[in-house]
Amino acid sequence: MGEDLEQLKQQLPLLDYLRQQNWTGRPAGRGPEFVGLCPLHPENRPSFYVNACKNFFYCHGCGQGGDLIRFVELSQHLSFRQSLTYLEQQSALADSAAVLRQASAFYQQQLDRYPEARLYLEQRGVRDAALIRELQIGYAPGGSLRRHLRAQGYSLDLLQRIGLVNAQGHDALFQRVVFPCCRDSRIVNLYGRSTGTAFAHRLLPGSKGDLVAWESVRQFPSVILVEGMFDLAVLWQAGFRHATCSLGTHLTPGQFRQLCDRPRTVYLTFDVDPNGSGQQAAQALAHRLRAHGISPRRVLLPPGHDPNSFFVQGGDARQFHSLLEEAPS
Ligand SMILES: [Zn+2]
Repeated sequence: MGEDLEQLKQQLPLLDYLRQQNWTGRPAGRGPEFVGLCPLHPENRPSFYVNACKNFFYCHGCGQGGDLIRFVELSQHLSFRQSLTYLEQQSALADSAAVLRQASAFYQQQLDRYPEARLYLEQRGVRDAALIRELQIGYAPGGSLRRHLRAQGYSLDLLQRIGLVNAQGHDALFQRVVFPCCRDSRIVNLYGRSTGTAFAHRLLPGSKGDLVAWESVRQFPSVILVEGMFDLAVLWQAGFRHATCSLGTHLTPGQFRQLCDRPRTVYLTFDVDPNGSGQQAAQALAHRLRAHGISPRRVLLPPGHDPNSFFVQGGDARQFHSLLEEAPS
């Protein structure tokens, strides 16, 4: 237990943790000390000191002081044991975010090496190189990620826990175009769209994260919600930068809260599939949104279409704009 504790504190230095929590401090003199406003009590003049070498804090305002665990106890109102569990979770999250970032970067590098990947993007109407970079689109050929990440020192156990490598020891994503899924701008998952005959959609275990690019989209008074990443890509490419994506028609509670974080119009642009499931989901979602003060409009694409196929088969921005205008509320 004592050893685990020391290891945890080493993995997550107090100063790093405070900065993750948006604490800002400036150097206090020449030593390893930093000073800033106390996160534990209201104050206008900085009296909260952190010693980065000793991993200790002390506040001259409220008199509190101690190590990382003590800080978590005080700031999160947790017991010692609960604080430990909390920090272990934080540390595991930081690990998995780092691995997923590496995996995403690796997949982005592969995109240009596999003509079939470029061809697939082309077929889905995604051509703009700047957009491909912005959405961090990559390609998982399969069979090379494990080696790459193991060479970077990540344990097989961690890769399997995150789901990048399956129980048999093979890369989980195989011949798929890959998009990162983020929460608070941290990668929490990867979505892979099969370019071959395998099941079309694949997410690693765990959350699908926030609405895509929500930080930039949320400023618009009206937003377009689509269910697929390729829908989003073609809409952005056509200039509809107020489009976001929920990766499927079922929003997580977090995604739903984001959509309702201020009064706005939401254009629900789900697939118009033959079995009607996309439109049923849109109807149910419209109902829930209305109850939360949002004005939903259901965009009616031609039968059999999703936003991606609409653009791929010759639809243009002007036509899509008319669909938005005609969308019933
Ligand atoms: Zn204080």
